[in-house]
Amino acid sequence: MTTIFKKIIDGDLPSEKVFENERLLAIKDVNPAAPVHLLIMPKKEITSIQEMSQEDFDLLSEIIKVAQNLAIEFGISDNYRLLTNNGRLAGQSIFHLHFHLIGGRPLGPMA
Ligand code: AMP
Repeated sequence: MTTIFKKIIDGDLPSEKVFENERLLAIKDVNPAAPVHLLIMPKKEITSIQEMSQEDFDLLSEIIKVAQNLAIEFGISDNYRLLTNNGRLAGQSIFHLHFHLIGGRPLGPMA
C-alpha cells in the first residue's frame, strides 16, 4: 500500500520540505509536537528500522548528518530528540521509515 510519505516523495502530496537530496527528504511534521518537529526519511521505501538491510545502513549515517545540520539551521542544536517509532504499539502510524527531529521546548522524560 502506498504510504503518505511515498506520495510526498513522489510529489503527489504537498509538504513543507526543509531538505532534499537523491536519497533523503526532510519535511515539517504537519502536527508538530514541539516548536521544531521535522521528519527525516529515506526516499527508498523501507517500512521501519527493523526492516532495514545491511545495504541500507549507510542511510543512517546520512540521516544523522542531516539531523545535525537541520538542528543547527533550526536553532535547536543544544537540545533535541531524534527518534524513530518501530511498530504500531511503539507509536508508528506511517509505515515508511522516518526519524522525528524534535526540539524548541524542554522535552522532559520519554514517558
Ligand atoms: P509516526 O507516528 O512515528 O509514524 O509519525 C508519523 C508522523 O507523520 C506524525 O508525527 C504525523 O503528525 C506526521 N504526518 C502525518 N501526515 C503528514 C503529512 N501529510 N505531512 C507531514 N507530516 C505528516
